[in-house]
Amino acid sequence: MLSNEPVSNIKGIGEKMEAELAEIGIHSVEDFLNYVPFRYDIKEIKPLTELQHNEKATLVGKVVSEPSLTFYGRKKSRIVLTLEVEHIAVKAVFFNQAFVKKQLQRDDIVTVTGKWDMHRLQITVSQFKKGTVKTNDTIQPVYPLKGDLTLRSLRKNMKAALHTYEKQIEETLPEEFLTNYKIPSRSQSLKQIHFPDNRILLKHAKRRFIYEELLLFQLKMQLLRKQKREAAKGTAKEINKKLVQDYVQKLPFALTGAQQKVVKEILRDLESAYRMNRLLQGDVGSGKTVVAAIGLYAALTAGKQGALMVPTEILAEQHYDSLKELFEGYGEIVLLTGSVKGKKRKEILRKLVENEADIVIGTHALIQDDVFFHDLGFVIVDEQHRFGVEQRRTLRDKGLFPDVLFMTATPIPRTMAITTFGDMDVSIIDEMPKGRKPVETFWVKDNMLERVLNFIQKEVQQGHQAYMICPLIEESDKLDIQNAVDVYHQLEAHFPESIKVGLMHGRLHSDEKDEVMKKFANNEVQVLVSTTVVEVGVNVPNATVMVIYDAERFGLSQLHQLRGRVGRGHAQSYCILMADPKGDVGKERMRIMTETNDGFELSEEDLKLRGPGDFFGKKQSGLPEFKMADLIQDYRALETARQDAVTIIESGKFFSDPAYAPLRHLVEKDAVIQGQILD
Ligand code: ADP
Ligand code: MG
Repeated sequence: MLSNEPVSNIKGIGEKMEAELAEIGIHSVEDFLNYVPFRYDIKEIKPLTELQHNEKATLVGKVVSEPSLTFYGRKKSRIVLTLEVEHIAVKAVFFNQAFVKKQLQRDDIVTVTGKWDMHRLQITVSQFKKGTVKTNDTIQPVYPLKGDLTLRSLRKNMKAALHTYEKQIEETLPEEFLTNYKIPSRSQSLKQIHFPDNRILLKHAKRRFIYEELLLFQLKMQLLRKQKREAAKGTAKEINKKLVQDYVQKLPFALTGAQQKVVKEILRDLESAYRMNRLLQGDVGSGKTVVAAIGLYAALTAGKQGALMVPTEILAEQHYDSLKELFEGYGEIVLLTGSVKGKKRKEILRKLVENEADIVIGTHALIQDDVFFHDLGFVIVDEQHRFGVEQRRTLRDKGLFPDVLFMTATPIPRTMAITTFGDMDVSIIDEMPKGRKPVETFWVKDNMLERVLNFIQKEVQQGHQAYMICPLIEESDKLDIQNAVDVYHQLEAHFPESIKVGLMHGRLHSDEKDEVMKKFANNEVQVLVSTTVVEVGVNVPNATVMVIYDAERFGLSQLHQLRGRVGRGHAQSYCILMADPKGDVGKERMRIMTETNDGFELSEEDLKLRGPGDFFGKKQSGLPEFKMADLIQDYRALETARQDAVTIIESGKFFSDPAYAPLRHLVEKDAVIQGQILD
């Protein structure tokens, strides 16, 4: 096998080269062949009329003038000569390449590459070659090089390696994949990757390796998922379907199609002997809470208790209020937060242990040591990214193999969901309840503040409320808090007595925060100046205006979350972005915000603008590094690879069918499987 054959067996690779290669992790012939270019310099010869001004271009022409050499400055020189290209005279200029004068004569045919000046019909040559280029020289592979390794020696040795070992290059993909997807064999592809004959063959070769890379990744993910499922044996719950149906029917509204689908998925998980490990994504206002309620009720009909954990007290209280309504006459529901203390707390803990309470809604207070359940069967974590792995695990461990559902209102682009959450099941609510009025979004310049304030005043006088968000990069950033405080004073002075202004930021004590939020929720405060602490889940349906200062400082997803705080009632709502973005990306963000209300579309756009590394923040991204695949460009291949991986693993043949042996080998070689964000 080529993986056992030392790289020094390749003709022309001596001790020195061997050492150089070892430096970059190349030991075997196999390693060497897999050392692929990271890009290609493409010298395509195009008609003159298609060349772009100031862009790199390659021309073939005949020298029709004597090269004239001039010296200037200390050691600088310039050669100018005329080329005839397509019967047109083109000037070629060479800087500091005096030797060219000796090499090029009248009537020589030459290929030159350089920067094209469309107006002067002139090319500033950076590379040239006598004669016309062969087509396979027009695509130049560029390798990552280190130390004394040169492109020249690398290419020479690669040629030798391919020549000697071509016949021994093993195919990794099963025959049927090659046929179905019309992809070239591994040996053909490697040849094209290192020495491309033309763009099309190169494209197919790349396509092959991208697919192979993604398939391997997905196989690992699916194996991991299977392992987790098998290790995490849950308990099959005996749900009373009839009761659940009645419950759904008695809701004040009909479920959307997306909600129905997700409910089905959740019920199926609850009934199965596997432990649920599911992520539920749904845009703000898409109706995740009801879905959670149905799931909790279903578990209840199977005699199990349920817990819903949320990141803030405000949210816990809101959820408690809405779920209490939804469970009127169906079950006993309790609230457990940091502010529930003393006797009251003791009573709730007693109810949970003695199975008098069916469902508990709470914050971190739920995971304290003295909280016990009679039989916790279903755990839901809302806004899961706000909790650490440990916290989620602690809650889960309070039950005996409970099913776990994570919910998030931050839509994750599909490609990201597949890669980062590939080992979980993902449910998506991608449909809004009927009759919602989309929030109207405007982008205005900073100097429009006066008009924005007048608009707020008008809305407030009609009985509505408004948020004013000031940017906050970090919770502890003093300057930003000062910013919010300043705006607060400014608005207090600006508005008449009758309009009460409130202030909210991360430095406030949690009691103070709750106090402010309560006042806003009760319309005792009409305008709330705040940092982004209101971003998550807060529900004040009477608020119709969301103003965001310095909106260019936020990412798209965050802007969308903030916008989701309005448009929750019956009245038309507005989002006003105040921003003077300097760069194109900033402008693009504002434009996208005014054009779509769809969180998934926004998250895809965000991903495109920021790139995958930045999307989750570099540290916690957990994204795999791919050699060739690009998660954004190759999302279709990613989906296909995922489907194929699921099929292969579920067929049960992955470990027995010889057709999968090479893939199996590659999977097993990589013990570390990346891509786990959620425990
Ligand atoms: P999310 O938690 O996803 O942001 P919620 O569950 O809070 O959304 O739902 C937002 C609002 O929409 C709630 O007032 C809820 O009662 C209502 N709602 C949920 N599902 C539907 C539906 N199918 N039809 C009409 N209204 C719905
Ligand atoms: Mg919610």
